[in-house]
Amino acid sequence: MSNISSGSTRSSYVRGIPSRCTCGKPTTILKSTTEKNPRRKFYRCRALTDRAFGRVFKWAKESQLEEFDVLLEKQESIVDDIEKNRKV
Ligand SMILES: [Zn+2]
Repeated sequence: MSNISSGSTRSSYVRGIPSRCTCGKPTTILKSTTEKNPRRKFYRCRALTDRAFGRVFKWAKESQLEEFDVLLEKQESIVDDIEKNRKV
């Protein structure tokens, strides 16, 4: 009954759409120009130059699918809360 899940900020991996990089700077959405992934959108740290490629890098589609899961989970927990309150 008391299974409270607290917010986790431990890992550098951001589930869903990464709004911020691990360095604290906001991310930006860019379009890939590589032959392998032409015009594929991705999120990247705004502070990074091409030379320092790394930290936050995530394909937009994956991020958006994850974000959808995150929202679903949030909604489920809200529904749970409503159910609990109703029983009081
Ligand atoms: Zn960064």
